[in-house]
Amino acid sequence: MSIKESFARPAVLLNPLGGDPTDADSHIGGPMLWPIDEPWPWCDGVTHDDLDATAGAVGVRMPFVGAVQLYQRDFPELPFPPGADLLQVFLCTLHHDLDDCFGPDVRLVWRDSTTVVELIEEEPEPSVQEEIYVPTVNVLEPIRYTEYAHSFDRPADLRDADWPETSAGSKIGGWTCWWQSGPITFTCPECGSEQRQMLSLATSEPSGENVEWAFGRDGNLNILTCVKDVLHPVHLHID
Ligand SMILES: [Zn+2]
Ligand SMILES: [Zn+2]
Repeated sequence: MSIKESFARPAVLLNPLGGDPTDADSHIGGPMLWPIDEPWPWCDGVTHDDLDATAGAVGVRMPFVGAVQLYQRDFPELPFPPGADLLQVFLCTLHHDLDDCFGPDVRLVWRDSTTVVELIEEEPEPSVQEEIYVPTVNVLEPIRYTEYAHSFDRPADLRDADWPETSAGSKIGGWTCWWQSGPITFTCPECGSEQRQMLSLATSEPSGENVEWAFGRDGNLNILTCVKDVLHPVHLHID
């Protein structure tokens, strides 16, 4: 294996495009496949920050907003736990003061879509949102490629090597596109294994067709999961 290959990982650009997806599609910002008899995820509001529209929601419970849906048939690269074939990503679209992250809070739901019979009639809507965290409705036209480590993640003597740039678009897998921080190693608080970037949601897409949400200083919301068990606690890193 060449040294370059040892810094290569598979990645999938989500490549969002405006569209009209249903709950049966993979998408950003469209309707979620949510069963009528399951409680919708709510944020307890404890970490809401006293800034902008969120100031009125400090300590106030707020429903999460369906942000991303990824079916296994479309994205087999995701680390689905046994029995699940759908990853649902929810954002609480207010400012949160989290561990080392200032932005929306995130909930992941891994679901067996085949067990959903009757759908929720209406998704609950937050009474107040920060517009910068609310996605537009997009279908996905994924692009698969090999991604090479960001210069920050390479040994010193390879930092200036002529490699393709790490993509700053919304993507599965690949490498973290460090910008204002990094490189940082994240460790699972439950088992001590490495936490690796599973999904990155971007302010700016390579296609120019942005979802119109913004994270940090026009950066990325990176969702890291435990390499041993994706159901272990998730880490968020905005950069
Ligand atoms: Zn919240
Ligand atoms: Zn773990």
